[in-house]
Amino acid sequence: MFSNLQDKLERAFKVLKGQGNITEINVAETMKEIRKALLDADVNYKTAKTFTDQVKQKALGQNVINSISPGQLLTKIMNDELTALMGGTTSELDLSKNPTIILIAGLNGAGKTTFSGKLANYLKEKKGKKPLLVAGDVYRPAAIDQLEVLGNQVGVPVYTDRTSTDPIAIAKAGVEEGKKNGNNVIIIDTAGRLAVDEPLMVEISAVKEATQPHEILFVVDAMTGQDAVNTAKAFNDRLDFTGVVLTKLDGDTRGGAALSIKSVVNKPIKFIGTGEKMDALDVFHPDRMASRILGMGDVVSLVERAQQQFDEKQAAELQKKIRKNQFDFNDFRAQIQQIKKMGNMKDLVGMIPGASKVLKDVEIDDNAFKPIEAIIDSMTPKERENPDIIDQRRRMRIAKGSGTSIEEVNKLIKQFMDMRKVMKQMSNPGMMAKMMRNMP
Ligand code: GDP
Repeated sequence: MFSNLQDKLERAFKVLKGQGNITEINVAETMKEIRKALLDADVNYKTAKTFTDQVKQKALGQNVINSISPGQLLTKIMNDELTALMGGTTSELDLSKNPTIILIAGLNGAGKTTFSGKLANYLKEKKGKKPLLVAGDVYRPAAIDQLEVLGNQVGVPVYTDRTSTDPIAIAKAGVEEGKKNGNNVIIIDTAGRLAVDEPLMVEISAVKEATQPHEILFVVDAMTGQDAVNTAKAFNDRLDFTGVVLTKLDGDTRGGAALSIKSVVNKPIKFIGTGEKMDALDVFHPDRMASRILGMGDVVSLVERAQQQFDEKQAAELQKKIRKNQFDFNDFRAQIQQIKKMGNMKDLVGMIPGASKVLKDVEIDDNAFKPIEAIIDSMTPKERENPDIIDQRRRMRIAKGSGTSIEEVNKLIKQFMDMRKVMKQMSNPGMMAKMMRNMP
């Protein structure tokens, strides 16, 4: 995500590196570079200009504190301003009404149906809600089936009426059905068009009128760059939506849409889609996104993802085993499975400060753990529990069984043994304190 923009911003900051302080001249030059980087990332021209003017003004007004370099100071200002540009604070859905009616709008292919499924899943799992999905896309024949499949996947009922071609009647009937069944959130998926046109706007406005939604979420494909912003404007003029959902941020998007939409339509981005799977949805946090764009990582999101997968009882057990030096290959495999559950590897790496830069050209895929898992699977239960017994003969058998080489098996076992040693040391409280003291 945003790796191109990150690179260019970093180059811009280089202008200031090694400079003792911020002057009118070096700031002007840096701002020129930053503006270029933003325009290349498909940020709207006016937004880019206003943004750099603001950063410049802030930078020049700052006293350079001795311990902070101009580059660091500028990073901080950029971080604050990028956060503000993307809306400042996190904007949550208003779910206070019973039922809360949420209308989903956007062009064809933007990801409306996929998002409807993801949102239903999110509301059910994270917010304890009882949602109903309403299949209102009557023009795309497969759309109703698609929503039914997704509803099934996430365990949320879907209201359909295949005999009707009237989206307004379907939406209304869907709301009634939800009220009758005690659903406290009703999500209405609507039909899109290939481009913004009058019949679409008339129709979606009528659906809005008929259902009186509390939230109208406009879904847009982040990969479409400037077009995303223009479409957002057209929809907002007619619908006055309450929030934006940016999809496909997992792809090679240049990120411009994320940066320009708020300032152009003055509506917050509420969610981002980061994949095709039902759990690839994140609440949008402007501050975290700013640090990711600046290559500062997003530790908060990383920790949150880890916490979601974290089982306290299991962790306590593990602690005990590590202390007794009993951490074995079964535990190791369980750990790998937990990491995998945290999501797409590339995404995770992007959240680690500095890592996306270092690992930019490294191919990280979700298959990275495959050979390791194959090796562990080829061990006998006894070997997994007592790695010390794995001698040369056993190693050869494991390599053959896992379709790997003896070198790979040797390497993994060595890494495992080293890791176990370090873990044991770390689990000793006295040792931890000593290490902390030695930290810079
Ligand atoms: P709709 O026409 O607006 O309902 O769009 P769909 O929900 O059918 O999505 C169009 C395509 O985009 C489908 O192939 C989805 O799997 C895909 N898609 C939707 N959201 C995302 C996302 O966040 N990331 C990726 N990579 N693909 C997505």
